[in-house]
Amino acid sequence: MGRPKGLGGVRYPPLSIVWHWQLDVSAYLAQGQQIEVGEQTCPDCGRRLGGWSGYRRWVRGPGTERLWIRRKRCSRCRRSHALLPDFLLERRLDEVHVIGQALALSIGSHLGMRPVAKRLGVPMTTARDWRRRFRVNALMMVTALVALAVRLDAAPVLLSGADQERTALEALGARGQRARARFGERVPQLWRCWSLISGGRALGTNRSPPYAGRTGVDWMTLIP
Ligand SMILES: [Zn+2]
Repeated sequence: MGRPKGLGGVRYPPLSIVWHWQLDVSAYLAQGQQIEVGEQTCPDCGRRLGGWSGYRRWVRGPGTERLWIRRKRCSRCRRSHALLPDFLLERRLDEVHVIGQALALSIGSHLGMRPVAKRLGVPMTTARDWRRRFRVNALMMVTALVALAVRLDAAPVLLSGADQERTALEALGARGQRARARFGERVPQLWRCWSLISGGRALGTNRSPPYAGRTGVDWMTLIP
């Protein structure tokens, strides 16, 4: 059963679909509204999505910029989907790579949130919020990432189990290694993978990430 459809007067907010952008943010910005997202299918019914405008959103970086997010629509489900490049997460201003750095520094290297925020040039409250959301979602993330890793390679995934946050980082790394061993250099950078496999909702608050629907193999079909 798919999600309820936006028929009968019920309106749903647009959902995000994360897709792999092979280059950096400035290359994306340079494309402006001409950005090409390739063919995308409806996550509910599988039909090819049709063109349907887009919107601007901010991305924080050197000289914070606005970029164009393309939106497409399923004519059968009558829902539109925001096509988020994999260097972003839903509702987060910063690049996923920056968010990942903050998590790796604070969880992996035990650096305090204040020096982490200073090093990355983000407000401390923002960095602290990333960490808090990561902590809340850590257990779900471990379960999903281990399942994905095992689908890529059936060998057991060895995790330290020290605490949930560290274990979540280890599980992300383990899944990444197995993806790379199987698919080689085509596999995106670690934190972009995190965005791809969580559908941009890795730090989401009100909707579960669609981890379960992304196996190691069909996840690769997201990559052009
Ligand atoms: Zn559909």
